[in-house]
Amino acid sequence: MNRRTTPRPTGHVTFLGAGPGDPDLLTLKAARLIGAAEVILHDALIGPGILALAPYTARLVQTGKRGFAPSMPQARITALMLAEARQGRHVLRLKSGDPSIFGRLDEEIAALAAAGIAFDIVPGITAASAGAASLGQSLTARGRNSGLRILTGRDVGGLADQDWRGLSEPGAVAAIYMGKQATRFLQGRLMMFGADPATPVSVVENASLPGERIIAATLATLAHAAQGMSGPTIIFWGLAPRAARARLPRPAARKSRA
Ligand code: SAH
Repeated sequence: MNRRTTPRPTGHVTFLGAGPGDPDLLTLKAARLIGAAEVILHDALIGPGILALAPYTARLVQTGKRGFAPSMPQARITALMLAEARQGRHVLRLKSGDPSIFGRLDEEIAALAAAGIAFDIVPGITAASAGAASLGQSLTARGRNSGLRILTGRDVGGLADQDWRGLSEPGAVAAIYMGKQATRFLQGRLMMFGADPATPVSVVENASLPGERIIAATLATLAHAAQGMSGPTIIFWGLAPRAARARLPRPAARKSRA
């Protein structure tokens, strides 16, 4: 059965992963849905290149959420989403990367489920995948890391606590989202748990976007590694940028890389 051609009396919500920023990294499904959108509620990280794919008749609402900056409270976002769906509209809830990773998808699904509103989820390329591609690195490697951690630097209570002992094991790899303001904390904890100060750390700002920047650091220099970065930034614990990649010719827009 094609779910999209089935008449829906009450509207519905599609959670849509917009990928890391480069419109070329949207899935075909995402691009098709954005191109036919009625209402789009999108996070602040969704750039103009992606929003430009929406028809001029579409209603675009930015729901904020940028670092610690003030934004539309979650309750208001949810209320708006419910109100639009109840009017029979197909609401696109556009989230950066993959909607299931640090996107509060669970809270929004719970609200829809409680209201009896149907939803579906379209996955997207998460920042960890885009950042690793920019480093020219594999997130997993046989004999190095048999697991990959996806962590956040912040949690509801502030700085996020993690399995520091596990992270301090040689070869551990983690993709740390929202870690820009937590570098000193991360460094302190990892040192305290005995991680090698020479462990490589990479910082990727604006992965896949024209202003992309990559900083190579180590645990010893981590506290200052993300200084001056204002765009979305992902930190890779246990991975160094692959040197050979730096010698590849790059498109003009990407030349600002460190
Ligand atoms: N759902 C998203 C993550 C949302 S949390 C995903 O799957 O990617 C927001 C965080 O994601 C940012 O603080 C940053 O750590 C990371 N991020 C998102 N886009 C990024 C990009 N283009 N480059 C680097 N980090 C990015």
